[in-house]
Amino acid sequence: MKERKAIVVGAGLVGSLLTILLAKRGYQVAVYEKRPDMRAAGFVGGRSINLALSDRGWKALQLAGIAEDIKAISIPMSGRMMHDINGKHTPQPYGKEGQAIYSVSRGELNLKLLDLADQFPNVSLNFDQGSTGFDLLNNEVQLENETVSAPLIFGTDGAFSAVRSSMQRLPRFNYSQYYLQDGYKELHIPPGPGGTHQLEKNALHIWPRGKFMLIALPNEDGSFTCTLFLPFEGKESFEQLQTPEDILAFFKKFFPDTVPLMPDLVQVFQENPTSSLVTVRCSPWHHENKALLLGDAAHAIVPFYGQGMNSGFEDCTILYELLETFGDDWDRIMPLFSNSRPLDSNAIADLALRNFIEMRDLVGDPQFLLRKKIEAWLQDEFPKAFLPLYSMVTFSHLPYSLAWQEGQAQDELFEKILAIPGVNQNWKTEAVKTVFQEWMQERERNERIYAKPSEL
Ligand SMILES: Cc1cc2nc3c(=O)[nH]c(=O)nc-3n(C[C@H](O)[C@H](O)[C@H](O)COP(=O)(O)OP(=O)(O)OC[C@H]3O[C@@H](n4cnc5c(N)ncnc54)[C@H](O)[C@@H]3O)c2cc1C
Repeated sequence: MKERKAIVVGAGLVGSLLTILLAKRGYQVAVYEKRPDMRAAGFVGGRSINLALSDRGWKALQLAGIAEDIKAISIPMSGRMMHDINGKHTPQPYGKEGQAIYSVSRGELNLKLLDLADQFPNVSLNFDQGSTGFDLLNNEVQLENETVSAPLIFGTDGAFSAVRSSMQRLPRFNYSQYYLQDGYKELHIPPGPGGTHQLEKNALHIWPRGKFMLIALPNEDGSFTCTLFLPFEGKESFEQLQTPEDILAFFKKFFPDTVPLMPDLVQVFQENPTSSLVTVRCSPWHHENKALLLGDAAHAIVPFYGQGMNSGFEDCTILYELLETFGDDWDRIMPLFSNSRPLDSNAIADLALRNFIEMRDLVGDPQFLLRKKIEAWLQDEFPKAFLPLYSMVTFSHLPYSLAWQEGQAQDELFEKILAIPGVNQNWKTEAVKTVFQEWMQERERNERIYAKPSEL
């Protein structure tokens, strides 16, 4: 049995949650984080950047004992609110009544996780201590001014992980990174009079425009954090938006209803960076029984399913369950986790890439909206047999790889349903039910084999 001592590199969302869970199991945990302590650096009061938290994330927060605290500072979003170019709004629920994803401030969440980690006497938090690498032979983490070691090292240092970079030098370590042609920029809708929300508060707002889109998530203070996703180059692109006139003309043309809501649009646009969107895949995630990657360090994905953090939190839940099942036997746990989990992270990586098309393009498409209505109806009619793909990913704990397969099967089902004559006038019909039942029977016979998620 290994000595219960661990080093966690990176105290972001996943690293701080993992620290709490290891501390709960009695590990002595030393955390090394590159940035200063956000609690001392006066994060609170800064501009909010928010994330959508859903069931997989909540489960991990419950395990850490912090779910209620986070719920108190999060805003339920029960559906999408689509804004067309004429300013018309169309609501589209995410799931059944009572289901929602939650907008939560990234900074507040990280801060609360750090505070909780700090309460454990067996945790030491070290800030301004970035790792420059990891010595695989001696299990030593190199910091800028010293070297530290422990029998267990966890790399939770994000998409550009230093721990992973060291593991990349190992023979048979697979690695790929893929950048979208699109980038993103954060913008801001300030609160209305008296701290009110200027748009519907309990929704995730989307302005889908084909090759690009704007989204907005609510903050507690009445503001919204907006994100513009746009190609870097091309006809409508970041490279075309250089002057204040370009920026304003672009927003007036494509997002006219947002212009009066963002008085400082041009200034914020010019000040905020344009960032890139990367998918990282690698395997194995472990090195012997000594080191393990989790969160974005192991699997960075694009944000279009709102699952990056949620899947990183799910890594922590699964690891914790393995610790309980195998009594902290790392010889078994490391390879088990590292051999099974990438199938699911690859599936959510693929689903997230696919959801970009859905969000920017399809959410404004009448056929897509019809499919969503039929999905909801089928779920009511056949609650035990049908769960829409979005609900599987967001409101369940089914492995992502299963959701990936079901998604392909559901695409085939809807190709057939949407081809039924007159279905767009009336979809609550026996014809639709019959197609569904035949599809179910085929699935029960297990006749079809679906494509696996991409590996690298
Ligand atoms: C625009 C955008 C929107 C998103 N929206 C959502 C969403 O709605 N829902 C969702 O679930 N996910 C979302 N995500 C994804 C989510 O942000 C990430 O999956 C999540 O932050 C991963 O957490 P992490 O702790 O693994 O990595 P990070 O959050 O990147 O944390 C890594 C930590 O390691 C530290 N670090 C880095 N290098 C070193 C080093 N060498 N030494 C020591 N420390 C180091 C960093 O300072 C940081 O604190 C979004 C991502 C983007 C880009």
